[in-house]
Formats: sequence, structure tokens, C-alpha cells
Amino acid sequence: MNRPKRLLVANVAWAHETAARNPEFFRELARGQNPHVLWIGCSDSRVPAETITHCEPGDLFVHRNIANLFHPGDDNSASVLEYAVRVLKVEHVIVCGHYGCGGVRAALLPPDPGLQHVNRRIAPLCALAERHCAELDGQRNERSRVDRLAELNVREQVRQLRASPIVQQADSPPLVHGWIFALEDGRIKVLTSGYAADDAMTCTASADSAA
Ligand SMILES: [Zn+2]
Repeated sequence: MNRPKRLLVANVAWAHETAARNPEFFRELARGQNPHVLWIGCSDSRVPAETITHCEPGDLFVHRNIANLFHPGDDNSASVLEYAVRVLKVEHVIVCGHYGCGGVRAALLPPDPGLQHVNRRIAPLCALAERHCAELDGQRNERSRVDRLAELNVREQVRQLRASPIVQQADSPPLVHGWIFALEDGRIKVLTSGYAADDAMTCTASADSAA
């Protein structure tokens, strides 16, 4: 069986199982969405938002792209934020990066001429790496450099989101959180809680200790 076919067969099984577990599930789903969280994550296949947080369809409004970037001038990410804040009125925006991120690693390498769209997209990440070059150069190896830049990137996206007029001018501004996912153990680390005052602190609390 080819891969698309396998996905379709799996979909039928999932729909049957879900309906068997909760006969009202799809009726409620079709009625509309009311998610409380906007999730901005990386497109990496190993970091599926709903799976790693045990969420159901309808729980998360999701935007994923290479290296979980939010660009205020980019209609793609800005439109998702606008809709989430102004129409869905989400209470939380979560930027979730991950360690070992290929998009972040690319920002530390010479640009690949065959990846022009990626190069343009990650340009702000390259600039961020430049601004923190002393700290990054001080890391013990390439992997640590990538992981540290992944953390700095999450904080930078949180900063950009909080500074966005969409968030600033919202009737009830959402809290913007910065998280990072570890592929090795499947755990999320909280880098910044929802409050801007925490940005100055290095928060090492794990998801266990987060309120
Ligand atoms: Zn990634």
C-alpha cells in the first residue's frame, strides 16, 4: 500500500474509533471552533503540536513553519495571529521551538544556494545569530550552538509577538509564552511564562513545575 493510501485507511480507522469513543464528537466539531490557544511551532515532522500535548481537534489553532518564526511583515504568520486574536480571541499564544532544529542549524551555516526561499525566510534568524555571536561561539560544540540559538529564537519570537500591534491593541491581549521541546525525552521546557516581566529571567522550570 502506498503512503497516501495508508494515510486514508488510517483516517477511516481514526474516524470510526473517535466516533465510537464519543458519538457526539464530530457533531460538536462541525458546529465550530473555540480554541483558547494559538500554537506557533516548527514544521518539523517530529514536533506535532496536538500529539505532544495530548490535544484533540479543536483545542489548538496552529501555525507551523520552518524554525517557528513570526514575521510581523509576513501576511502568512500575521494573518494567523490576527484571526486568532481578533476573531477567536485566544487567551494564550505559545511559541514552541525545539532542540536540534534544522532551520536553526541552517542559520549558522553558509546559505545553501538551492534553498532560496528558506534562506530568505530564515534571514532574521541569521541576524539574531549575528547579534549573539559571542555567546554562540562560546558554546562547546555545534549542537550546543544550535540548541542555544533555538532558545534565543523562541525568546525573540515571543518579543516580536508581544510588540505586535495585533497583540498590543487587542481588547484582551493574550499571554505570549515561549517553550522548547526536547526530541530526546519528549519534554517541553518553559523558557518564558506568559508575562513580559519574566523575559529578563532565565526560567529553567520544566512543564511539570509550570502553573
Ligand atoms: Zn525545527
